[in-house]
Amino acid sequence: MKRDDKLKCSRCNKEKTRREIIRINSQWVCKDCQREAKQNKRKKHLDELREKGVIRKKRSPQEMMEYREEQKAQKLITQEKQKNFKPIIRGSKKQTQRKFSIGLTFEEKKILFGLLIKRGLPVDEVKERIKAISDNTKKIREKIKSETEDAKEINRKFKESFAKIVEGER
Ligand SMILES: [Zn+2]
Repeated sequence: MKRDDKLKCSRCNKEKTRREIIRINSQWVCKDCQREAKQNKRKKHLDELREKGVIRKKRSPQEMMEYREEQKAQKLITQEKQKNFKPIIRGSKKQTQRKFSIGLTFEEKKILFGLLIKRGLPVDEVKERIKAISDNTKKIREKIKSETEDAKEINRKFKESFAKIVEGER
């Protein structure tokens, strides 16, 4: 048989060259039909898995659109948070003017917020975690205040404690 001889595909009955056709179970099948059969088999298998609940059911176009919108919104929120996150400059005036009656300052909360969000924690969890840390720092501050009355010393010791907290959350 010459290379250019035409052969008939047993499935689509189209004439194909030797190059475009192969022998499967003693029948000639063209490559197009073969590809289609493969795709059908794969689709059938996926449908079975979806039926069994092994993989998620295919989303409808409407659901897919809603899903994409949701993802987009989530991405924007995250970007916005990261954009607004500014680390405090060490030794800045703001830090030395700390009020002693509170837990974490707004700046400190922002640092922790950025840190925990970057770690991939959900926003609700991050808020709870920061609240817990803030409550805890109130106690730390009380303890430092009981040890010394010097405002600068209190500030220095508290900065140390906060640095440790940040390190622990990284
Ligand atoms: Zn064919």
